[in-house]
Amino acid sequence: MTIHLHDTRLGRKVPFEPLREGKVTMYLCGPTVYNYAHIGNARPAVVFDLLARILRRRFELKFARNFTDVDDKINAAAAASGKPIDDITAQYMTAYNDDMGALGVLPPDVEPRATQHIDGMVEMISALIDRGHAYEADGHVLFDVTSYEDYGVLSKRDLREMIAGSRVEVAPYKKSPQDFVLWKPSTPDLPGWDSPWGRGRPGWHIECSAMAAEHLGKTIDIHAGGQDLVFPHHENELAQSTCAHDGADFARYWVHNGFLSMDHEKMSKSLGNVVLVHDLIKTIPGEVIRLALLGAHYRQPLDWSEDTIRSARRMLDRLYGAVRGLDVPESMRAQAQPPAALVAALEDDINTPRAMAEFFALAKELNKAEDADDRTRLAASMLASGDLMGLLQSDPDDWFAGHGDGELSAAEIDALIEKRNAARSAKDFATADAVRDQLSAAGIKIEDGASGTSWRRSE
Ligand code: AMP
Ligand code: ZN
Repeated sequence: MTIHLHDTRLGRKVPFEPLREGKVTMYLCGPTVYNYAHIGNARPAVVFDLLARILRRRFELKFARNFTDVDDKINAAAAASGKPIDDITAQYMTAYNDDMGALGVLPPDVEPRATQHIDGMVEMISALIDRGHAYEADGHVLFDVTSYEDYGVLSKRDLREMIAGSRVEVAPYKKSPQDFVLWKPSTPDLPGWDSPWGRGRPGWHIECSAMAAEHLGKTIDIHAGGQDLVFPHHENELAQSTCAHDGADFARYWVHNGFLSMDHEKMSKSLGNVVLVHDLIKTIPGEVIRLALLGAHYRQPLDWSEDTIRSARRMLDRLYGAVRGLDVPESMRAQAQPPAALVAALEDDINTPRAMAEFFALAKELNKAEDADDRTRLAASMLASGDLMGLLQSDPDDWFAGHGDGELSAAEIDALIEKRNAARSAKDFATADAVRDQLSAAGIKIEDGASGTSWRRSE
């Protein structure tokens, strides 16, 4: 089986084959560093961290995730706080890596910063001017969208319709309203670099094109990001990279994650419902947040609520409960593999809901297994699955000790139910009743049915 990914440009799931045998390049648009990442920003970081882990099983991967450290929003944040721009960007780059690290996001291979790639941007802009794809106007350099006949191919927009539907042009120096800024002039109080077009700073889109080319080459295998970046950011990256590189394919696969909403509402400052990862990790284990983010398929919308968190926590309790108390020798752990079906689900366009179902099937098999060797082997496979998905990274005893809320975990409940059923089979009704009372005291109602015993928490 080959890995399959949904490609935004083609609008369907396709088999993935890298350009160079055995090697893959992937670029993910990273954050603009002027504040803490919110839980929506964490979704692409976690989803594409998982994709990187999936790819690394088969390929030598070079994964770049940039920092946009020059941007008008950063300038505004610096002005508002009275701090130097470099202090702001340094603070939030560190915070981003710390926060994503808490969610099990591994460091990418390269983390290019826009301000360290200005030369590459100037070179690319010059190439675009030389080839007739960009023009200088009023101190700015703009990309001429009419010079690239495939403009709109990624976001499936028709350039003529876009131009016809445009409002009255706000920047009179643009030839077409859709022309976008490659370079703009800077005033002395703003960050700026000398260039053939005077002292200025780059537009956002050219930053990613230049950093991708510098670190991954003219053609990259996978370009990833949130759905909101398809237009205009990725459409513009695609246009300018293709035109600067004489038609070379820019990205062979475009992969985009769906959006996260907050209790069915858009997350926005005006609604006051922006939840920062930095705050969440103070009270919720990073793995719970990670699993909650991976709970829905990455292209589907994901609604964040108390329920999302609670259900992820219970799922992890069940997984940790299954491996608790089992000693897997290091040599066995190093050799262990996740079940083929779990890997197949992840390789099928990162199908995390299916992968989690396979994870639970494995946990169930382990819970049922009686032979000690079987239990160790299954536990090793559980841990290997955890390593692949960035879960089960804590010691199970620490995990349960960390709860501290007195609530019985799902694994503990399952274990008690098993104990009760075993007692009943052995006609030890006193023990069976005592366990039922213990569960009842903890607010757990159990029901015996044809397919076994089920439980629920009474509110
Ligand atoms: P930004 O710093 O706004 O450019 O966003 C960084 C990344 O987070 C981009 O890949 C966005 O697409 C993504 N993103 C922003 N908001 C959300 C959201 N609510 N749900 C999912 N992804 C988001
Ligand atoms: Zn980008």
